[in-house]
Amino acid sequence: MSLRRCHEPVLKNRRTLLERAEKFISDIYFTDCNLRGRLYGESCPVQLESFLSPKRISFTEACEQNFAPYKVGQTFGPTWYTCWFRVCLNIPSSWKTKEVHLLWESDGEAMVWRNGEPVQGLTKEGEKTSYVLSEALQDDEPHSLLLYIEVSCNGLFGAGQGSMIAAPDPKKMFSVQRAELVIFNHDVQQLLTDFEMMVDIVKELGEQDQRSFQALFTVNEMVNLCEPTDPSTFPRARSLASAFFNQRNGESQHTVHAMGHCHIDSAWLWPYEETIRKCGRSWVTVIRLMEKNPEFIFTCSQAQQFQWVKSWYPSLYSQIQHFVKKGQFIPVGGTWVEMDGNLPSGESMVRQFLEGQRFFSQEFEIYCKEFWLPDTFGYSAQLPQIMQGSGISNFLTQKLSWNLVNTFPHNTFFWEGLDGSKVLTHFPPGNSYEMKGKVEDLTKTLRNNKDKGRANHSAVLFGFGDGGGGPTQLMLDRLQRIQDTDGLPRVRMSSPNSLFSELWSQSELLCTWSGELFLELHNGTYTTQAQIKRGNRQCETLLHDVEVYSCLALSQDQSFQYPVDRLQELWRLLLLNQFHDVIPGSCIELVVEDALRYYEDIRDSGSRLLKNALTALGSGGSSGGSSGSNSGSSSDSDGSGSVGVFNSLCWERQEVTQVHSDTGGSDLALVQVPSVGFSPVKSADPHTPVSVMDQADGTILMNNGILRAVVNKDGTLVSLCLVTCSREALLDSSNGNQFVLFDDVPLYWDAWDVMDYHLQTRRPVVEVLEPARVLTSEQLRATVRFSLRISDKSTITQDIVMDAMCPYLKFHTQVDWNESHRFLKVEFPVQVHSPSATYEIQFGHLQRPTHHNTSWDWARFEVWGHKWADLSEHNFGVALLNDCKYGYSVYKNVMTLSLLRAPKAPDANADMGSHQFTYAIMPHSGSFQDSSVIQCAYNLNYPLRLAQHPLQAVPWSAFSVSSPAVILETIKQSEEQTRTLVLRLYESHGGTVTAALNTSLPVRDVWHCDLLERRDLSRAVSLTAQGIILQFKPFQIISLLLVL
Ligand SMILES: [Zn+2]
Repeated sequence: MSLRRCHEPVLKNRRTLLERAEKFISDIYFTDCNLRGRLYGESCPVQLESFLSPKRISFTEACEQNFAPYKVGQTFGPTWYTCWFRVCLNIPSSWKTKEVHLLWESDGEAMVWRNGEPVQGLTKEGEKTSYVLSEALQDDEPHSLLLYIEVSCNGLFGAGQGSMIAAPDPKKMFSVQRAELVIFNHDVQQLLTDFEMMVDIVKELGEQDQRSFQALFTVNEMVNLCEPTDPSTFPRARSLASAFFNQRNGESQHTVHAMGHCHIDSAWLWPYEETIRKCGRSWVTVIRLMEKNPEFIFTCSQAQQFQWVKSWYPSLYSQIQHFVKKGQFIPVGGTWVEMDGNLPSGESMVRQFLEGQRFFSQEFEIYCKEFWLPDTFGYSAQLPQIMQGSGISNFLTQKLSWNLVNTFPHNTFFWEGLDGSKVLTHFPPGNSYEMKGKVEDLTKTLRNNKDKGRANHSAVLFGFGDGGGGPTQLMLDRLQRIQDTDGLPRVRMSSPNSLFSELWSQSELLCTWSGELFLELHNGTYTTQAQIKRGNRQCETLLHDVEVYSCLALSQDQSFQYPVDRLQELWRLLLLNQFHDVIPGSCIELVVEDALRYYEDIRDSGSRLLKNALTALGSGGSSGGSSGSNSGSSSDSDGSGSVGVFNSLCWERQEVTQVHSDTGGSDLALVQVPSVGFSPVKSADPHTPVSVMDQADGTILMNNGILRAVVNKDGTLVSLCLVTCSREALLDSSNGNQFVLFDDVPLYWDAWDVMDYHLQTRRPVVEVLEPARVLTSEQLRATVRFSLRISDKSTITQDIVMDAMCPYLKFHTQVDWNESHRFLKVEFPVQVHSPSATYEIQFGHLQRPTHHNTSWDWARFEVWGHKWADLSEHNFGVALLNDCKYGYSVYKNVMTLSLLRAPKAPDANADMGSHQFTYAIMPHSGSFQDSSVIQCAYNLNYPLRLAQHPLQAVPWSAFSVSSPAVILETIKQSEEQTRTLVLRLYESHGGTVTAALNTSLPVRDVWHCDLLERRDLSRAVSLTAQGIILQFKPFQIISLLLVL
């Protein structure tokens, strides 16, 4: 390429030449004479009328309202209202052949409606302020039009007061700043884009790079050639730019796979309801871009959002279906929502994929081949196996680029999960899922790539995100220019499938990362919004039990109707609340209210379904069609018969349970119930009755023959002894069950982050309100109660409960919590020495260090776990169990459970009020595997259920598993086949084992299946006299189909 000069060679002043070109396209300086100032031609006013609605209403409803004249600049609102505008416009006939836009600049997010259909989203923040009325106005096009514009009184990022993540300002007012018809000079826009790209190449490649100087001289010459007032001078400038862009790369250059994307948080700084409109606005805009740009590909995740658009914008949905078929609009991810990667249970994770993949398959005949989770706060080590089981071998995320301490060493690598399953994983090296198609996105991608020489392909996801918005025509125009420009990576408009197939084809040099992808940030999200965490855990266990007992009822009662539709609805609510800003607690108060209401819905309906199933089961088949009604008898005995006790877990349980709650009296029984079965209530006598007594030194001694605990006046434990081996569990001269309070002021992300320095502000909670006293003393149960003052605003009341035959001590805790930026935890310093502690995760467990040797170790000062954590040395250990908590830390020999936080943003009232939760401490001999820690943690979470006595008067078990290492986690009806059960089992000890599954149900056929419940014909099922023989590798999940 040569610059045909008509003047002397340019001077060697890089700065002046560069700045000259920048000013030529500046929207601030010299717009009177520069190119930018020529973007719009003539303009013409439009007539506006408005109607304000406090609610989100439909278009039809909006049309029927009384609209009043509106003048540009008038304010409307406040926050969360909707202002509907009627826009009456007349395009001057003199604008023939011109490109005509409606220019709309307003606060809030807007949707244009034309002829009753949504046609275009408009947001100033998302750089969408034009609705194109005509690309070249013809006489036969309509010149007079009536449009409606629906303006939500919230921005792309909600309405934070002062800062983005501050609680929303309820009084914020909004306005339209500009609404007019304009002539849009397309040729000016095209040339501006050329200039912008050239200037950016100069800046991004920098003074070390000769291409930067070639670009500099080219762009300077373009300014020389171009006279803004004379469009006939534009083509020569454009051809100079084009010649530069078309100088090609060599064969070795990196390839960037550009994919349009629009990350829409299913709820965050705005409520779920607004997300539905965000999807509508963002996706209709995507469809408009697809109509003009047939090469444009858009990746779109979260089946739930598709479902919303299907219900609320049916015409848009059918356009989406059309472009899905064409391969431009690509559903990705395979999950119901982009869920949190840490807190949902194993079965919840499976259901995310089951609901997501089945939805995409039913709606679009697509099974996603990649898991898509760019924005979640860490990734469970069990995800690779769950992905593989759901037909997925590829994974895309980027959030680990947010690590505060350590830089993750790969962008493209194999991620190996807990069981050894591997998935090909890609972190877009640009460290963003909302790029803008700019030169810097490409250079960043190239430079940041930590797998240079191993992987020559990367993803660039472009489009406004988080609050929606998506790609723009400008982004497409930018990328179109530099598809193969020497010095920049090649750009290919691409799809996840082509990216990953390129990466697979060059995967021989890729490294492997084994175990969890721990995010070294946002560790407060394991604890924030405790009611949401509790709702999640309780609803997970409730739906588990509903499914188990409904399956048992189905097997015993031909007429029982398995509640297919209702269970799907409830699961979908639960899965929705697992979205990555809801279950972590990083959302505004409006979202918390919605989430808690959904949990209430699940509890209400779930309890009814449970009752129906137990009633059907209890009546031995005579309940007929009662499953669909609410008319079942009380869960407890109604006096007309005896009471049966039901166990949904796959081991025999012997527990103290309360059998007559209706009568008001505490009527305890020590019951024994077979695995996945029931038994008449028949209280047995314990080997050793529980004893509790005040001691001379003011302490209280509790003993059940397994544990002996000594409780101080302030509720701390001075001693906890495992009687059977005379072993003290607590560290000498320090107290167990010690509540501690920390200052909790992070650097910015309030609800999200707890920083390492909070550990230096530890203060024990010592002020006793009511000293420990014996509350109840029966041979099956003893209770000690005490109260503490945390501050003048907060208190703790706790019942320490010891049950007969129970190997753990329970702490039923009630906290009235009204703190600000404080973190409440409870500590157990134990007599155990070990370099690592074990934490339960989805379908398994993993170890994390108890020391701070390296930066990778100390970055994990606060970690997540599910129902239990354990610290063991050879032959002895202590487990800390919980019924709704997720935050843990074990440092040296102090085991800590995180209880409550008090952040003020984005929810100013987060966690204020009353909380109930239970945790338990369990010293054990041997290993935690051999001492049934895992089973005990399940028992603590899955209560025995009481219902009317079944007709069969003998204990009955539906399923049992021969090995204690194997847990039968799930029993549900198949999604495809009625009267076919899906059983999900996993190996929980971390070993290789053969187990026999036995059932008393009339099973006709057994098949292996994947997590999507598709038969696996390649794996034969071994049926023997001992039962169904299953071979497990460590942490392997096995799913079976049982045909009844
Ligand atoms: Zn997000």
